[in-house]
Amino acid sequence: MLELRNINVAYGNIQVLHGLNIEIKSGEIITLIGANGAGKSTTLMAISGVVPVRSGKIVFEGEPVHKLSPEKLVAMGICQVPEGRHIFPSLTVQENLDMGAFLRNDSDGIKDDLDYVFSLFPILAERRSQDGGTLSGGEQQMLAMSRALMARPKLLLLDEPSMGLAPLVIKRIFEIIQKINKEQNTTIFLVEQNANQALHIADRGYVIENGVITISDSAKSLLQNQDVQKAYLGI
Ligand code: ATP
Repeated sequence: MLELRNINVAYGNIQVLHGLNIEIKSGEIITLIGANGAGKSTTLMAISGVVPVRSGKIVFEGEPVHKLSPEKLVAMGICQVPEGRHIFPSLTVQENLDMGAFLRNDSDGIKDDLDYVFSLFPILAERRSQDGGTLSGGEQQMLAMSRALMARPKLLLLDEPSMGLAPLVIKRIFEIIQKINKEQNTTIFLVEQNANQALHIADRGYVIENGVITISDSAKSLLQNQDVQKAYLGI
């Protein structure tokens, strides 16, 4: 579904991604794990068109997409939930969700998807008239994910969904990620510092260090890899 081929990204003179190769197949959950500053968010932003790719190629469903705008990429089915959620705090929950569907005009499909996100997160239905900014951190994460789902993505890019949340909320969010993958057949690319939880729901994973992919393997093997255990799993 998605291929990153020899991707290089720099901020000014500082190169942060060095020749990245990543491949994601339709229906997979893939995780990218790495330390602070390793280049995880930059990788997601390169895919979603938010930061420019200096060289290399990104191919989505057979088409080169690395020169397309974020809007065009959303229309093609690539949606990102950014780190820190970035919901619209002074818009209501309902209005935030409406924003997610702004490129669509299939009102029946939009209604079905609204029912679906409310079934995933009933608390959002209860709070649909409340301003987004008044929600708890966990609820804002739910809203950010739901807003992305309202665009009907084929590929959902999740940047640190567990950040700053309580363990029980994190557990729920990871369960929902699996549910979305299974029920909607949405392919997931999950960036996480919480490597343990991410590898438990992923099919495969990549490890990034200083902008270089150093390991690529099945999630099962990564959980048993001694270097990964030592660096990222605290074992
Ligand atoms: P974190 O988990 O802390 O978000 P990360 O793995 O997602 O880390 P990135 O945010 O992609 O890493 O950052 C990779 C490198 O690029 C870091 O050294 C960071 O300081 C640098 N960087 C990120 N954004 C910018 C920017 N807008 N301008 C300059 N340098 C940046």
